[in-house]
Amino acid sequence: MHSVQEKLQVYAPATGKYLGAIEETPAELVGDFYQRGRNAFEAWSQLSVRERLQYLRKLKEYMADHMEDIARIISDDTGKVMTEALVADIMPTLDAISHICSHGEKILRRQKAGTPLLLIGKKSFIEYMPRGVVLVISPWNYPLQLAVVPMVSALAAGNSVILKPSEVTPLVGKCIEELFDKIGFPKGTVQVAHGGKEVGAAFTAGKPDYIFFTGSVRTGKIIQEAAAKELIPTTLELGGKDPMIVFADANLKRAAKGAVWAAFTNSGQVCMSAERLYIERSVYKEFMKLLRTEVAGLKMGTDENSDIGSMTFPGQIQIVREQLEEALSRGALLETGKRPEEWEEGMFLPPTVVTNVSQDMKIIQEEAFGPILPVIPFDTEEEAIALANGTEYGLNASVWSMDMTKARRVASRLVSGAVVINDAIITVANHGLPFGGAKQSGIGRYHGDAGLRIFCHEKAIIEDSGKKVNEIQWYPYEGKYPLFLKLFKSYFQRKRNWTEFGRNYLKLLKK
Ligand code: NAD
Repeated sequence: MHSVQEKLQVYAPATGKYLGAIEETPAELVGDFYQRGRNAFEAWSQLSVRERLQYLRKLKEYMADHMEDIARIISDDTGKVMTEALVADIMPTLDAISHICSHGEKILRRQKAGTPLLLIGKKSFIEYMPRGVVLVISPWNYPLQLAVVPMVSALAAGNSVILKPSEVTPLVGKCIEELFDKIGFPKGTVQVAHGGKEVGAAFTAGKPDYIFFTGSVRTGKIIQEAAAKELIPTTLELGGKDPMIVFADANLKRAAKGAVWAAFTNSGQVCMSAERLYIERSVYKEFMKLLRTEVAGLKMGTDENSDIGSMTFPGQIQIVREQLEEALSRGALLETGKRPEEWEEGMFLPPTVVTNVSQDMKIIQEEAFGPILPVIPFDTEEEAIALANGTEYGLNASVWSMDMTKARRVASRLVSGAVVINDAIITVANHGLPFGGAKQSGIGRYHGDAGLRIFCHEKAIIEDSGKKVNEIQWYPYEGKYPLFLKLFKSYFQRKRNWTEFGRNYLKLLKK
């Protein structure tokens, strides 16, 4: 007998409309989930990569056929506008599946490696062996992409998967479960556990073979601690406080448009949003004017032509409010938007640009995850780099300048998982590039070749034909020490002495 199942009640954040209820997964079922996952792993891991990719191809085609329905569910559940559901959640997911289908076999096949001369006659390889049951825990801001991309990566590599999607967007979690069901993955290969942090914690404690977590720094640390106790390997994709540096020689109109998009897309609830804007002082006034004009043109709402949707999670509004209140109480000025006490009821926050801000304020140091953009002027390249590197985060950054030498020089000095020059955020949309954070923004990388290989044990293999009876380093050691000395000296000294090397090698062989 299981306890009465809790239900997650779902309301659309943008409209308040009741959308339904999703049953939570009772903690008593954790063991059953893992048992099914382990049973399914036995067969799934034995399929060839090509066979596994057939399932992913079917998933991609099914999702492409039902794109509008999926976009509607994402938009209803998150409050983001339909364009963003399509462009920033569905498209990167489909593109990632396409990339994995095109390159998966090559990435996961046995790779030939070089063999050093001292291991003469042998062959070396690297093999990628699936790990087992992978637990994916995902957040609510891009609820499709941040769940499905690690899931399909782990599946392609031969693992079975348990997903614990965010309780803040449970309809998308349910939608993902139904999508995988429709494709007919073998029973137990893909399972979805619904619920909040207690369910997440119960599954973390259930000893998965790998944990792929995307979410806040705070939860990331809790999960890493639990995983460490069992030595479970993890990838942690955590928060960001991304800097945007605009030099005087940038295309200012483009940079202003870019800043407004990078700061306010998805109402700023993007781990890679521009959360700090540093502008070279000589163009500061001109740039602020451009910024105000761009913000004035933004439309908030729920229809297809709206630019900015609602916030997704009520708790997030409180964080944004506190940061803004602290900044205003210390002399910050509003260039656009309203003071928190003037915000309207509901989940829509106005796009807010803030000036007269100092580097030590919460609005600069802590992740806001909302539509606020603090701006600070700078005088020199060194100062801009120091300011940009001056938080605990390091997920993404952008540098805006027409001088590519300078832009590249600055980009290479930013402590960040990614940097974009004259654009923002988009590294995440190129699945061929690694994705992940520096400092508190995370541990590990996914996407790219590493995105499949992290879900495997990397296995070193050396093959010998087996024809020789003995090896030079095997027993007996008698009389070998001086020969090895000569062999290694001839090999490692500044000028290699091949005659000496050959002579001693042959002598060792005869021993
Ligand atoms: P969160 O950490 O509150 O929750 C993320 C997930 O973890 C949810 O599914 C939640 O139920 C689960 N969870 C919470 N406590 C848990 C626990 N003790 N044990 C196991 N699971 C637990 O994060 P959120 O509010 O959903 O997402 C927003 C955060 O995610 C922001 O900080 C954002 O920057 C970050 N994020 C990072 C990336 C990235 O790729 N680096 C992408 C998107 C969002």
